[in-house]
Amino acid sequence: MDFNLAYLYPELLNIYGDKGNILAIEQRCLWRGINLNIHKINPGDKINPDLYDFYFIGGGQDQQQLMIADELQTQKNALTQAAHSNAVFLAICGGYQLLGEYYKPASKDKIPGLEIMDTYTVAGNKRYIGNVTINTEFSNNDTKTLVGFENHSGLTYLRGNTKPLGVVSTGNGNNAEDNTEGGVYKNVFGTYLHGSLLPKNPHFTDYLINLAGKRKYGNSFILDSLNDQIEVFAHNRVINKKY
Ligand code: GLN
Repeated sequence: MDFNLAYLYPELLNIYGDKGNILAIEQRCLWRGINLNIHKINPGDKINPDLYDFYFIGGGQDQQQLMIADELQTQKNALTQAAHSNAVFLAICGGYQLLGEYYKPASKDKIPGLEIMDTYTVAGNKRYIGNVTINTEFSNNDTKTLVGFENHSGLTYLRGNTKPLGVVSTGNGNNAEDNTEGGVYKNVFGTYLHGSLLPKNPHFTDYLINLAGKRKYGNSFILDSLNDQIEVFAHNRVINKKY
């Protein structure tokens, strides 16, 4: 068995170690004898939505988001088709913001998003930095917390059928107002949690891999359990710790 992952614009959108999310998916697949074929998507590349099981887009400063905005629009149809066919997306911070209707940086025009998620983001006048713990239903076992850290000024608001990834118990999350963090639509997951997120949240990594496995191989796809002692230790060390 194997999976194909489209790594969207890694030269521009990959801050605070977000690439670690791909390494976590890759390693947790390898430990089960599943290969992950990672395809870097660079500006000018045409995305074939039938090819990929996973899509990953990392975070970026306003400048990088502006630089990639036009390119993203050229792949809007392909990425929308992929999302509607239940491919698994993981989008972190700046990448998450660009999955919505728009991101409006401070004192700049709106950057149009992919409109895959029913969200919008506006830059606030404060930067939210620190550890975050949320309670989530998206887990492959009975661990229902996700830990990471946030560093953003964007305030994201969810609308329609885009639901939160979780509820904040420590930190700020989407907008420091409604206690939500992240967004979920079909198998598209967006979050402000850097870290990188997945290595300290193996239950969420396996949840994503299981979604992709069931989609590609049917309900017979089963993920063997792993010894997550180190990952769980790292997870528990930061639960509800602000700094
Ligand atoms: N530039 C965006 C913001 O400041 C996203 C930052 C990020 O990806 N960490 O909100």
